[in-house]
Order: sequence, then structure tokens, then C-alpha cells
Amino acid sequence: MKKLENYVQGKWISGDGNGQQLFNAVDGSPIALASTKGLDFAATLDYARRKGNAALRKMTFQERGRMLRALALHLLEKKEQFYKISFQTGATKIDSWIDIEGGIGNLFANASLRRKLPDETFTLDGEAIALSKQNSFMGHHILVPKEGVAIHINAYNFPIWGMLEKIAVNLLAGVPAVVKPATVTCYLTEAVVREIVASNILPDGALQLICGSAGDVLNHVTSQDVITFTGSASTGLQLKSHPVILSENTPFNLEADSLNCMVLGNDVNPGQPEWDIFIKEVKKEMTVKAGQKCTAVRRIFVPENKMEDVWKALVTELNKTVIGNPHNEKVRMGSLAGIDQRIEVKAQVQKLLATSELLFGSLESVEVVDADAVKGAFISPMLLMNTSPFTSEDPHNIEAFGPVSTIMPYKNIEDAIELSKKGKGSLCSSIITNDARTAKEYVLGAASHHGRILVLNNDCAKESTGHGSPLPLLTHGGPGRSGGGEEMGGLRGIKHYLQRTAIQGSPSMITAISNVYQQYAKGNSCAIHPFRKYFEELEIGDQIVTEKRLITSADIDAFADVSGDHFYAHLINTDFNGTMFEEQVAHGYFIMSAAAGLFVDSYKKNPVLLNYGIDELRFTKPMYAGSSLYIKFTCKEKTAQELKEINPDVPMIKGADIPKGIVKWLVEMFDETDELVGIATILTMVQMKNKN
Ligand code: NAP
Repeated sequence: MKKLENYVQGKWISGDGNGQQLFNAVDGSPIALASTKGLDFAATLDYARRKGNAALRKMTFQERGRMLRALALHLLEKKEQFYKISFQTGATKIDSWIDIEGGIGNLFANASLRRKLPDETFTLDGEAIALSKQNSFMGHHILVPKEGVAIHINAYNFPIWGMLEKIAVNLLAGVPAVVKPATVTCYLTEAVVREIVASNILPDGALQLICGSAGDVLNHVTSQDVITFTGSASTGLQLKSHPVILSENTPFNLEADSLNCMVLGNDVNPGQPEWDIFIKEVKKEMTVKAGQKCTAVRRIFVPENKMEDVWKALVTELNKTVIGNPHNEKVRMGSLAGIDQRIEVKAQVQKLLATSELLFGSLESVEVVDADAVKGAFISPMLLMNTSPFTSEDPHNIEAFGPVSTIMPYKNIEDAIELSKKGKGSLCSSIITNDARTAKEYVLGAASHHGRILVLNNDCAKESTGHGSPLPLLTHGGPGRSGGGEEMGGLRGIKHYLQRTAIQGSPSMITAISNVYQQYAKGNSCAIHPFRKYFEELEIGDQIVTEKRLITSADIDAFADVSGDHFYAHLINTDFNGTMFEEQVAHGYFIMSAAAGLFVDSYKKNPVLLNYGIDELRFTKPMYAGSSLYIKFTCKEKTAQELKEINPDVPMIKGADIPKGIVKWLVEMFDETDELVGIATILTMVQMKNKN
């Protein structure tokens, strides 16, 4: 019998003894043994910190992002072999697509996040904070990679996605991972890790894999590590109360059972597109992955006068679901992950049936195609009904982690909100409505209890990613019962693996530390105009202070004519009584344009390829005719760009493969009294001298 190996300390190693027998979920045949007995977990974590962390934290966000992209492309090439194995978990092609390509999609999405991060090993967080009157003392926040390891303890339902959605984030942050998938489906995770290791894309120690029991791994965690757990609330509680985790204050991110709900808005009636959307979405949530999704809909809330119509429509749809061997193309629902999981689901349904009735499905039997319903971990979808949801606690408390949902009536939107909250915290809730007022009331009333809310109607249904899909750029996690955790969420996610430190000092010091020019720091006065420097030659703080330009009434009139902006404040004949101004005031955009006229190095071709935008433009003081404008123009931040990359912000420009980088410039606009009249950050693309 094949024995799975663990990937620890740079080697594939079998655990001692026979370990746990793993079975094919579809036909019950044994497929592998998994053991972690005899592994040195302390040494495994130490290896991650010494090797993986040391290597990753030296890489910049750009390098880590490119590494993730390379990994995503590599795994995409190998995907067919993962599909083959995935069938053994009971997953259909579509279920496997979520796991495999959804997981790889997380790598791509996190790889792309590098564009929002500097070409540094660390990043600044948020805004600079002024702390003194004379501007000699300031504060900021800096984020540096933690010096530990991410330990991911995962659930059995998504053996690939569960790993990739988590490691994408810690790797981008510069932190290595030890992944412990749930044992029952860890053979699929192992197959993917084998490909990752073989690719040599990640540095040594960046990823280790434990196939089987977690042993005493938690005895060896430190304050620099991060633990994420996805699984049942009871295991989660047990693990997060581990004395070492408590004494070390190790961050513990918990994603647990969730009684997610879907609400049918009172405005939706049979015959409307939203009615069909609702029925389709509930069916999908019940049957995709045989209901073994953390986000699957467990509670369905329907206006009381539409209960019968809804459940009859659902029964009709569920009846059409072909269940069986996922290799058969007609099959729409495969099996559960294993026989133990079926026993567990049935036991939970039994509990639910104490206060609910079964409208569809059976605890005893299920009709399957191309499979043995008993040997394989098959189960029938089950639709339950509970008609007194305010007094019955069971449907709000008991999670059957399979194709099981309970339909319940509500009277008005306030009731629907209250019922949604009776789940005591969920990962996701949806409302299907066309009525913006209903949607707003529901979202504002229920959001405190749900990590994500989908508002679905015909306008977005076609392109909607659906109730059940957590997305890499949106946070996944929920309050209360669902764990109180938060993962993914784009840049929010990586912050779980970075230490945020407030830094204080002079603007020049903060500039030197962060490599981002801070207002009031000393600049480097440039002998040549910085626009004549190539990307590599530019230094943060390179600065010019321009000549003064007189702003005249004729200028303001001309700008009004050219732009068509004849706002009363810019017209000389306006009666300024009761306005914010004393007299004809220059357009802010004219001041910005005049600023460009002063700071741009005109006429000669130079390494600046183009100007592609302005961030944070503010006008701080009105400029009247007769005043003069001058500019302090400083190189603020530089980020090299990869060759041949099309910038997503300006995909239409030609010559996207010129070696270049993004340079941000701080534009400070002053009048003749040296008072700030405006401030902006402009973005340019600057050519590199070296052709890469
Ligand atoms: P589980 O028993 O809690 O197991 C989850 C993970 O914890 C597995 O990897 C398991 O490993 C591990 N584990 C169990 N005991 C441990 C211990 N003493 N020390 C270290 N690790 C330990 O959950 P499950 O029954 O497999 O999964 C189903 C549950 O997961 C459902 O309740 C579902 O709601 C929840 N879930 C939640 C989410 C979410 O995002 N919120 C996602 C998916 C699933 P072994 O496999 O080796 O026991």
C-alpha cells in the first residue's frame, strides 16, 4: 500500500508505523497510508524559520509576487494530474475546478498584489502623521515580515484551495508555511506539494507538508508564528486554548462551522428572474461539493406566504440532481469526503429532525449512477423545513456539513435580519432582492453578524461569483460561531503576517528608513533636472525648486475659456459677498497645470516616458490674480516594472515592453509668501538605462 510522505526539512520522509488508512470516497477502496509518527516537529518549525523565513524576508514584494506567479503558471500546467486524483475525494469536475483552479487563482491574485506594494522587503502602512508644529518630528507605520512560520491546519473539503489560498498570502508577506491538511484528503495536497517542490520555484524551507496527525507541533510555536485553523468549532476551541499559544500570544486565525443563510426578498415573486436565480443559487449551494463548503447555505429564509411555492420549486430542482460517480459526465453531485463524514452528517440531520420535517431526500437511501451507494460516501440532498424559527434553536445551531439546508418562514425584513443573526455569526449571507431599500436595510441590519453579504438580482446574477465563493481580494471569515477570523482580502490578508510598528523621528530619518520621501525631509538639490535622469539614476529625495510664475486675471479667464469651467468664483465680475472667496480665484486645476509648466523639463526628449496620473491632489489656499506660484518637486518613490508587462492602469499605451519603472513625485505648490497652496503626488513612467 502506498505510504504518503511528509515534506519536512528539505526532504520527503515517511512517518513510522502504518499510520492512518485513507480511502477512495467514491468506491471505498484503500488508496494510501498516512503517518507523521516520529517526525521532529520542533525541528520542522525551526527549519522554516531558519531557512524559509531567512530567504523570503530578503526578497522584495515584487520578487515574492513574481515567484507566486511562476508557481501559479507551473501548477496550471500540471492541473490535469490533480483533477485525476481529485475525483477520488468524491469531487465532480466542477467541485475540483473550485479546488484546483480556484486555488491557483489565489496565487495569481496575490501575485498581482505586488503592483500595490513597493520594491522593498517591507512596506509603509497608511498615512504619514504630523506630530509637531515645526514639522521636524513625525510618525508613520512600517510593516515588516514576522520572523516565524505560518502553520496552516486545514479542513478536508478543499485540499488544494485550502492550502493555496493561505500560502499565497504568507509567501507574499515573506513568511514560510507548514501545511497540515486534514488527513482524510491529504493525498491530494501531497500531490500538489510534490509538484511545488519539484519546480524549485520556492526557496528551501518556504513550504513544508505534514500528511497526518499534527503531533506536538503546537508545543513548539513562538510569538513570531501565525496559526490558521479551518475546521470544526470544537477542535478550533481546543487548539486555540493551547497553553503555548496562550503564553506566547501566537496569533490564531479561526475559521469554523458557519450556519450561513440566504434570504428571499419579499419583493420577489414567481415568474420574476430573481425567483429563478434564488432557486438555482440554493440548489447550487446544497449540491456543489455535496454541501461540504464552509460557506454553503444551511438556512433559507423565505416570506411566509411564499414558503410552499419555494419549497416545491426547490424539490423539483433537487429531484433533477444526478448523484454518483464523479467520472460520469452526467453526475452533478459526487460523494462526501468519506464514510466517517457521512456518519457525522446523518447524525447531525437526526438532531435537526427533532424540530424540523424532511421535505426532500432520505437519510436511508440515495440513488446513484455508476457507483455503489453504500461503499461510496454518497448521501442524498436533504431539504428540511422548520416553521417556528424564532423558537427553535436547532436550525441556527446544528451544522450538517453536507447537502443539507433548512427552509424557514419570515414575516418582514426586521424578522429576516433577526433570524440571520440567530446563527451567532456566519461567513456569508445572501439576499435576493430587486428593492434597494430592502437590500440596504438588510445589509446595515445584518452586517454585524456576517463576514460577507451578497446582494443578488438579475442585474448581476450572470457575472456574480455566487454566494459560496470566497474571493482572494475580499475578506473571508466571520464573527462569532464562524471563528472571529479573517483571511484573504487582498492587502488586508498579508498584514496578518507582518508586524506593524509605529516609527517616529524626523522626516529625513523616516525618508531614509522607508525609502519614501516624506514631506519636510531634506531634499537632494539636483544639478540636472531629475527628468533627465534614467530610472536607476534617480534617488529618493532628488529635488528641484522652480522659478516663480505670476498668476494673472488674464490667465484665469483664459483657463476658464480653454477648459469651459466658468464656475462663478473664477469670473472677475462675480459679487463675492457671501462666497468663500474675496475676488476672482484661480482654478485649482489651473494651478496644477501651471505647476506642471514649471516642473516639467520642456522640449527635449528625456527618459520620462509619460505621466499617468495624480494621487491625492489637494488645494490648500486660494490663489488670486497677482500672486506668484513656485514648486518644490521631489522624487518620492520608485518601483521597477517588469519587462513586457502591460500596466493594468494604462493598458492601451504602446511600447509596454520598454524597460521602465514607476516614479512618484511629490509636488508642493507655494505662493510668494511661501505658504502651501496645493499638494499632489504625480505618477510617471521612467525609462531604465539598462535594457535588462
Ligand atoms: P476538524 O475535525 O476540526 O479538523 C480540522 C483540522 O484540524 C484537520 O486538519 C484535523 O486533522 C485537525 N486537527 C484535529 N484535531 C487536531 C489536534 N488535536 N491538533 C492539531 N490538529 C488537529 O474538522 P473536520 O470535521 O475535519 O472538518 C469539518 C468542519 O470544518 C465543519 O464543521 C466545517 O464547518 C468546518 N469548515 C470550516 C471552514 C471555514 O472556512 N470556516 C471551511 C471548511 C470546513 P486530522 O484530519 O488529521 O484530524
